[in-house]
Amino acid sequence: MQDLTMQIAQIVPCTEAEGPGKRFAVWFQGCPLRCPGCCNPEFLPFKGGHTRTLASVTEELRRARDESGVEGITLMGGEPTAHAVAALALARASRELGLSVMVFSGYTIEELRARDDATITELIATTDILVDGPYVREQPDTERRWIGSRNQRIHFLTPRYSYDAQWRQKNTLEIRVDKDGVSVNGFPAADAVGLWKGWKRKKPLPTVAPRRAEQQGTDTT
Ligand code: SF4
Repeated sequence: MQDLTMQIAQIVPCTEAEGPGKRFAVWFQGCPLRCPGCCNPEFLPFKGGHTRTLASVTEELRRARDESGVEGITLMGGEPTAHAVAALALARASRELGLSVMVFSGYTIEELRARDDATITELIATTDILVDGPYVREQPDTERRWIGSRNQRIHFLTPRYSYDAQWRQKNTLEIRVDKDGVSVNGFPAADAVGLWKGWKRKKPLPTVAPRRAEQQGTDTT
């Protein structure tokens, strides 16, 4: 199993912009969905990225825990459930290291459960926090930290986390400059999505202020 390979778009070993606490963030390469305004259009094709082994990513995760004090892994995309075997393997590795698991999926939990896929079912069972649903550009979320749009729900699937004060802080954007160039992660303000990548919008952003969410869209199922 340690020889399992996976197609990774990007890893940020320690970030506070992708979920509670310090987290090891993994973006898979490849997503079958096409949400207009997606922050990561370069992560959508299934070709590209870097081929990594489970063993090497797990070792990097262990180092991030020991040296940076990360408390969990966050799996994103691309679409983690389109890489379900690798996502489950990383979720299990994270649990074995005593770390938590957070997953962002463009599918709703109902859609994922309806697939009746044993690997996806096991991934959900190994996840502490699932943020579900597609990104909807017209419904930017300005209330919940780390969440892109108001339609997306936060499922606390274990007692490890809850909707505490850190979810209500302002969104976090991290910009890193190193020898390989500039990388950005976290969720930018709606009018800044994609700007640093020189990515051209196909449709203008809505000009009306977003309505306040009537409910937080969280649950504890
Ligand atoms: S699910 Fe995520 S990665 Fe896929 S198109 Fe939508 S926003 Fe982009």
